[in-house]
Amino acid sequence: MCGIVGYIGQKEVVPVLVNTLRKLEYRGYDSAGIAVVNGDGVSVRRSAGKLSNLESAIAAEPIEGYYGIGHTRWATHGRPTEENAHPHRDCTGQLVVVHNGIIENYLELKGQLQQEGHKFVTETDTEIIAHLLEKHYNGSLESAVKKAFSEIRGIYACGILSSREPNKIVGVRSGPPLVVGLGQQEYFLASDTPAILSHTRDVLFLDNQEMVVMTKEGVQLFNLQGEPVTRAAQNITWDANLAEKGDYPHYMLKEIFEQPWAIRETIVDRFSLNSGRVYLEEFEITEEQLAKVEKINFVAAGTSWHAALVGKFLLEELSRVPVEVDISSEFRYRNPVVKP
Ligand code: GLU
Repeated sequence: MCGIVGYIGQKEVVPVLVNTLRKLEYRGYDSAGIAVVNGDGVSVRRSAGKLSNLESAIAAEPIEGYYGIGHTRWATHGRPTEENAHPHRDCTGQLVVVHNGIIENYLELKGQLQQEGHKFVTETDTEIIAHLLEKHYNGSLESAVKKAFSEIRGIYACGILSSREPNKIVGVRSGPPLVVGLGQQEYFLASDTPAILSHTRDVLFLDNQEMVVMTKEGVQLFNLQGEPVTRAAQNITWDANLAEKGDYPHYMLKEIFEQPWAIRETIVDRFSLNSGRVYLEEFEITEEQLAKVEKINFVAAGTSWHAALVGKFLLEELSRVPVEVDISSEFRYRNPVVKP
């Protein structure tokens, strides 16, 4: 999971982006970054770690402007460093992308793009989107998006802008959520609705395989074949704070009923419906190493201990590797038999 945001309108963009990112910080805190376009072209500020680090980076080198995009990352491909923080740039630095999701065929596309002369500076899968858009750019960002995303396999919600096409943000979605906020001569892009509710209650939800083109004049929806899509805006009547408890009398009941959603949200960035592949890259364990595992220990407490008991059941069933479950406070004080 990660959070993406975008804003175009009359206000200074940086406080709006930072404020919206703060509400999305629960979605990822490996790094954060923003890109803003003004008379000087595209300016990017990024920082490893929490949003407060990004705020310090911006305070040290302020930027002004009226439109931009931002990201708070939960790394899947590449370490959680500043270099790997979004937004990612093409070779010219004029086109930038923020991305939530996983590009399955990024290695294949990266190889092709490198052969064609594109220079990569990060370890992420996301960077290929910027270079692929650069390759297909022929005067229209929308048609570059259309062409690039027809080659991309995977799951994504992206915010894209280019100083070659001023005053425009393009959002595109297949998988992770993307919501468009409609304000008074100002428009918002975000990974979830509560993030923008303090600005507007009129929203449009992007469907899979759709893109939104946001300018100061308004927003237009298209499918990825480039055909216009008409959709009525929805007015959100719930309050962001009250919404936390929704119509449920108490939180416990809400959390019980939210389990299918919570599980889906947790795995949507980790699991490809197309290939059935599971992505747990930051484990840094190869399949060969995994195949050599002789025993698995779960060390947990409270709720996670109960979850681990279920995990033991499932893992032994699936892997035929013995699993032991320990209460963490006890594991700490005995001399457990564990191999390196
Ligand atoms: N795959 C991208 C990355 O590793 C985006 C991850 C995310 O959705 O947070 O940077």
